[in-house]
Amino acid sequence: MQLSGQCPPAVALMPGQRGADGCIIVDWSDSMPATKIDGKSVAASIRQDAAARAARFNEEYGRAPGLAVVIVGDNPASRVYVNSKKKACAECGIYSEEHALPEDTAEDDLLDLVRRLNSDPNIDGILVQLPLPDHISEDKVIETITPAKDVDGFHPINVGNLVVGKPALRPCTPAGIMELIHRTGVELKGKHAVVVGRSNIVGKPVALMLLAEHATVTICHSRTQDLPSVCRTADVLVAAVGRPEMIKGDWVKPGAVVIDVGVNRIAEKRLVGDVDFDGASAVANAITPVPGGVGPMTIAMLMQNCVEAAFAAQR
Ligand code: NAP
Repeated sequence: MQLSGQCPPAVALMPGQRGADGCIIVDWSDSMPATKIDGKSVAASIRQDAAARAARFNEEYGRAPGLAVVIVGDNPASRVYVNSKKKACAECGIYSEEHALPEDTAEDDLLDLVRRLNSDPNIDGILVQLPLPDHISEDKVIETITPAKDVDGFHPINVGNLVVGKPALRPCTPAGIMELIHRTGVELKGKHAVVVGRSNIVGKPVALMLLAEHATVTICHSRTQDLPSVCRTADVLVAAVGRPEMIKGDWVKPGAVVIDVGVNRIAEKRLVGDVDFDGASAVANAITPVPGGVGPMTIAMLMQNCVEAAFAAQR
């Protein structure tokens, strides 16, 4: 007997009925319904919490936590991100100031601005929106931000502290991923976590965070052999690849938690993740949608980092 997973789609039949070709129609969405992890509502609760803590900071120290956002040039995507960050600050009661510099800004001028912000007592967090124009070294800029104000968590000191397990400002997207994993209630200790992608901003830091919580972690990348088989062993699967719907349903271990970090535009108005959502939902226990999963978490965690940096500076 075949199950409808192997049959051509039968539109007019109900689950449990037999199709003309002998297939039993199985409603996979009823048989294995993955919980959709609602990043929007988790992000909203984290922003609320950040707002409450920002208000407490204001009461105690007579000013709001402050974030400086620096943007160089007029990359439209960067402009959208910067606007969203400023809006989130306003909603959370965090003071924000924007420094918009022209595309041809000299590297030294940008570094001078960062140094001024480092010593500004009203600024607790500095965020330089990436990417920067080619003539400016991103590494130099990141390394010039004082680690205590590095709310993106990209400074080598913060990365190093993450590696050795010391407290540090954590990069926002990986921290948001961890928050979503925690909300599923999965116990990470001893579980196999597979991270597909090894970028410095997502793959590597999230792998370290999973390791810190005692998961056994495998990091995959473009040279990994037989990626589907490795993914199939994952109790927690994090996809941060940037390839639309690359990870198929039959790469997912039944009952796994699947976190899809990918944001891929496949048509004018259609965004998809790195995971085939429908296929994976049929087997996973919990899965993030795209959009509405990891995406909203990044700015929420940035708000949390700003408030954290502000309190830490007073200790
Ligand atoms: P990235 O720097 O381009 O890294 C992609 C990683 O995927 C690399 O490690 C690469 O391997 C690996 N990879 C590429 N093709 C592969 C394949 N066929 N098989 C296995 N591994 C493969 O990307 P990123 O910055 O980490 O971002 C990943 C995705 O997350 C993108 O879609 C991005 O838009 C999204 N993202 C979302 C957020 C958010 O807030 N939601 C934040 C950041 C990123 P190699 O190292 O071997 O090249």
